[in-house]
Amino acid sequence: MTPSGEGGASRELTREAVDAAIAEYRSIGGPAFRKKYNFGGARDYFLVVEGDNLDSKAIVGAAYAYLPGGQALTAKDFSGGLADAAGRLIKLGYDVLSPGQNADWSWDEHVLALDFYLTHRDPVPGKPSAQIQGLSELLIALGKRTGVAMTPKFRNANGVYMKMMNFRRLDPEFKAQGKSGLQRGSDLERRVWEAYAGERELLKAQADALRYAIGDVAIPLTITAEDEVEYEGEEGGVLLKLHRSRERDSKLVRRKRADVLKRTGALACEVCSLDFGARYGELGEGYIEVHHLKPVASLGGGGKTKLSDLAVVCANCHRMLHRGRRLRTLDDLRKAMSGAV
Ligand SMILES: [Zn+2]
Ligand SMILES: [Zn+2]
Repeated sequence: MTPSGEGGASRELTREAVDAAIAEYRSIGGPAFRKKYNFGGARDYFLVVEGDNLDSKAIVGAAYAYLPGGQALTAKDFSGGLADAAGRLIKLGYDVLSPGQNADWSWDEHVLALDFYLTHRDPVPGKPSAQIQGLSELLIALGKRTGVAMTPKFRNANGVYMKMMNFRRLDPEFKAQGKSGLQRGSDLERRVWEAYAGERELLKAQADALRYAIGDVAIPLTITAEDEVEYEGEEGGVLLKLHRSRERDSKLVRRKRADVLKRTGALACEVCSLDFGARYGELGEGYIEVHHLKPVASLGGGGKTKLSDLAVVCANCHRMLHRGRRLRTLDDLRKAMSGAV
């Protein structure tokens, strides 16, 4: 039997199985464990257990043997990278560290850091301060929730303080005092600064929504390769995950579909009129996506959703509403479509 088929690598891993593999690793030691399961030395991500760094791939490979009727995976069953062994561990709530580099600062992290900077800039708290430590802990929590590559130095006080100095170099108020900040910095710092410098309220609302999302463990925040390519900006990354969590098949979403069906006699896209039942026959009957019309940041984290906050749209139009830096309105998208050749 090949382990990569059904019942192999595609099976859902459980915490019980991983914990059993960890226990075995600790009882027989790393070298014997890797030899038994045929894994080389840890060149990949580390699973952190009580301060020890364990080889994430070997643990995951062995954990499959602990599933009911399961069979261990070998190194060649993993394509490598975070999305694979380490990604599965992160999904189950384990702490995983990269032996290599920390992920680059994301747009979302810059939003949290800039909100912090503008709140605390006069003067920027020192490295050992509780405020800098607090931001560091928040960013580490975000890193764990989104599953990015993290080393033991990920967003530590040094790195966070450095980011403050990089923002200061862009700060006209600071320059006006005849001082100049660091000369070097990233392009993203500048773009985030420019996006929010004149929009303090929006920045705060987005930072609040991010903090809310980080704190609510029920919202899946793992960033996939697709997210990174498609989205950058105000309704991308974590806020897009938060937005989607509101559009998932909840009671309200089902009520919205029923309401539209009752009122209009069909489930047609509010932008382009596509009706899945008419287009795909029986297969498409009853299918339509539900889109939340309000940017998540405007809802201050939680926020109660009303039926009128939702629209029914086809999958294509839904994508296009979310594409780009800001959430489009249905009207904007209708105009974009009528303008298209
Ligand atoms: Zn449509
Ligand atoms: Zn949406």
